[in-house]
Amino acid sequence: MGKLTGFMEYPREKMRKEPVFSRIKHFKEFIHPRTNDRVRTQAARCMDCGVPFCNNACPVNNLIPDFNNLVYESQWKSAYHSLISTNNFPEFTGRICPAPCEPACTVAIIDKPVAIKHIELSIIENAFKRGWVKPKIVTKRSNIKIAIIGSGPAGMAAADNLNIAGHNVVVFEKHPHFGGLLRYGIPDFKLDKSVIDRRINILKQEGIKFIANCTVDGAYIKEHIFSKFDLVCLCCGAEEQRELDIPGIKNLAGVHYAMEYLVGQNKSLHDKKKNVKPLINAHGKQVVVVGGGDTGADCVGTAIRQGAKSVTQVQLHKKQPLERYVTNPWPNWPKTFNNSSSHEEGCIREFSYLTKSVLGKNKIEALEVQKIIWPDNEIESGQRNYKLSGKTKSIACDLLISALGFRHTLHNGLVKDLDLALDGRGNLLVDNFRSNNSRIFAAGDMVDGANLVVTAIDSGRKMATMVNEHLASI
Ligand SMILES: Cc1cc2nc3c(=O)[nH]c(=O)nc-3n(C[C@H](O)[C@H](O)[C@H](O)COP(=O)(O)OP(=O)(O)OC[C@H]3O[C@@H](n4cnc5c(N)ncnc54)[C@H](O)[C@@H]3O)c2cc1C
Ligand code: SF4
Repeated sequence: MGKLTGFMEYPREKMRKEPVFSRIKHFKEFIHPRTNDRVRTQAARCMDCGVPFCNNACPVNNLIPDFNNLVYESQWKSAYHSLISTNNFPEFTGRICPAPCEPACTVAIIDKPVAIKHIELSIIENAFKRGWVKPKIVTKRSNIKIAIIGSGPAGMAAADNLNIAGHNVVVFEKHPHFGGLLRYGIPDFKLDKSVIDRRINILKQEGIKFIANCTVDGAYIKEHIFSKFDLVCLCCGAEEQRELDIPGIKNLAGVHYAMEYLVGQNKSLHDKKKNVKPLINAHGKQVVVVGGGDTGADCVGTAIRQGAKSVTQVQLHKKQPLERYVTNPWPNWPKTFNNSSSHEEGCIREFSYLTKSVLGKNKIEALEVQKIIWPDNEIESGQRNYKLSGKTKSIACDLLISALGFRHTLHNGLVKDLDLALDGRGNLLVDNFRSNNSRIFAAGDMVDGANLVVTAIDSGRKMATMVNEHLASI
């Protein structure tokens, strides 16, 4: 374990965050790990409790107490090997995972939890700096060929594990660059795109082939893929967006989906040298973001960096309490108030508001919202369990961004062309990652619905295991 009395001696130390006034002037990452000595002190806070709830709360089941102990003992290389035994890409999760492991840490019962994500990022970035992260060259290959459709974290993790197992893996991606939502959805200030390039280069050196600008539909699978590959793994994400369906909104200029907005900004940063401007620019505008999730927060941070005149985020759900409800005890994920780093940067947050209509003739001028009343307790605050109040208000707006999340994977194209079965929520129906077509497996958001990077990695890894089991059985 770390230091026996570490959690009593040392306070939790978060990663270094650049102050708001300077970070909003650029799109670069602004959160960085502390020095190794300081991170060692953080690892010393681990109690190595008998049952590591952190390990269970982590979707890839990272061996957290083990790597904490190794960091405390300055055995950084062993800590790196422990970390990658469960997580293919800790450089992504160490930056953008919401870290469900931390509220489940036993120290969190009496104090602030061990800074697990901080330690994770330090381990992997140390490993890169010291040259320990090397391509794992496969010496013996099978004659099995596997096509992976989609290069997001699920596809990347599956490709990595299937390649290490010795199969011949090709990843097909419809966009010009790889990484899925890591590249096109998540803003650079949370995840610099060089971090994705660094990993893709390693995967290429390991022997995985990546093919860009290739939208795979049913016809392409039947004509080109089934003839050349033994199996297909679909990792196409959940791209069908939820619509903001309120009177007056159709065809009104100044109304956009979050993904149009974020993808435009990410592409413009990528093509900086070509001086490509973002498709939608919030500069000087009164921006209203509808939707209280992570995607909404990313739109807030982006609008602030683009120089918006004001940014307001409207959400249906109520402002959560600072402390847990009694019905939401440790080690569950806490349903408490969360101010993301984007919110710290200057945004008006409007809680418990239902969007009613938009004002404006050709171009949006305002959003009309109505206050709603939620029950006080956690249990009754189910999805739609609110009452309307009589109070309405109008929020001036010349750029409205709809960030209501995603319904499910796209049905048109691949799914319909191949008659793939869906579950009740519109996600791909699988049995042990295998679809109703015996040559097609699937993983990630396509199967789970919109989720997290770490759950997509986990899903890609587990699908690879199932593919290997299937291959071993034939
Ligand atoms: C704005 C935003 C912010 C987010 N922030 C976070 C965060 O901070 N932390 C976190 O953990 N999660 C976050 N998420 C969620 C996370 O990004 C996703 O859960 C994760 O990327 C899903 O991985 P995936 O591989 O299943 O799918 P995706 O990342 O969606 O990748 C799917 C890939 O398949 C490709 N594809 C689809 N169809 C085809 C086709 N027919 N042919 C070829 N290629 C195809 C797509 O182009 C894409 O590259 C965020 C999501 C969004 C939208
Ligand atoms: S991947 Fe996420 S949940 Fe798992 S240890 Fe890292 S930060 Fe925690």
